[in-house]
Amino acid sequence: MPTLDAATVKAKARELGADLVGVAAARVLNAFPPDPRWPQTPERISPHCKSVVVVVQRIPVGAFRCKSNIPVQYLDMLVLRKMDRVAYRLADWLERQGAPAFVTAAQETDWSYKRASYGRLSTRHLGVEAGLGTLGLEVNILTPEFGPRLYLTGVLTEAEIEPDQPMREQVCIGESCSRCLHSCPTDAVGHFDIDKRDCAKEAQEFGFFTILTYLEKFVTADADDKRRALRSRELFGFWQGLLRVVGSFGDCPRCLAVCPVGNDYHAHLAEFQKPIPERTPEKVAKGREFKAARERGDAIAGLDPWNVRWVGPDGYQGIVARQLRAFRDEQARRAREAQGEDG
Ligand code: SF4
Ligand code: SF4
Repeated sequence: MPTLDAATVKAKARELGADLVGVAAARVLNAFPPDPRWPQTPERISPHCKSVVVVVQRIPVGAFRCKSNIPVQYLDMLVLRKMDRVAYRLADWLERQGAPAFVTAAQETDWSYKRASYGRLSTRHLGVEAGLGTLGLEVNILTPEFGPRLYLTGVLTEAEIEPDQPMREQVCIGESCSRCLHSCPTDAVGHFDIDKRDCAKEAQEFGFFTILTYLEKFVTADADDKRRALRSRELFGFWQGLLRVVGSFGDCPRCLAVCPVGNDYHAHLAEFQKPIPERTPEKVAKGREFKAARERGDAIAGLDPWNVRWVGPDGYQGIVARQLRAFRDEQARRAREAQGEDG
């Protein structure tokens, strides 16, 4: 199999439209499955895979400045479609360089595993292993560039490509921020952990479990209730989900919208998203207790010796503050330049 130059592969991915790109070694992904009980590893898919090229597509920030979640739900689908196309074309290009390559679906569930939202590969962990970011309090991947406002996919290839190194610094500000926790309508955010069932109530309003619940009720209903069920909001939601994916996933963008990581946040969201209407005294207390638990050195599952690999083993060292300073300096420089031009 060929050995491909990482810089050439990344330049091709960017040329095809990737916003960010990194490379992870399959042997590392095989050695460090996110949950060893249900190993989401390349070797389960193909014994020949040597490298995974991880492609990121950002979600346009305008969607997070709207009054409702509808625009971001529609954009999610468009972003995923574009990302699949970029990844497919990259796989095609890799094959033309002599290296077999393929893409797996970014949003799918392997039913033999945990059921529901647990795919053959965890794209967020792929992103961390490819050096693109680290996991946040709500276990989304946070990239320094776009925070959590992105989707990722992986192109699996038999080419040997020099891998990137995972970041050791924690990108997430952590417990002292807790904005994702405060914003979550179902209080699903844990301590570098998430309750996927609770999240799905908002994030997949018309997703699989809603369909299952609807059908279970339907099969035992009497004729009148069946007629009513045929005219229900749920059924319309399922139809719209099939048509535009809206409602099936990514319905709730709150933890993405309020996360203060990324220049897209500094530029366009900081002011608009500063207040968090969902914040309650209980959620604030929960965040404080997380902070105290970490300071006490309590055992925290999301930060145990296995999981801390993806959160950033060196802890938070101020990356967001550094980024904000650099962003403001750049804005000031541009303003001076513009003044100079006017003058
Ligand atoms: S997507 Fe919504 S429901 Fe899920 S964790 Fe984020 S804020 Fe909570
Ligand atoms: S909102 Fe704050 S605590 Fe949550 S993921 Fe972003 S930086 Fe981390």
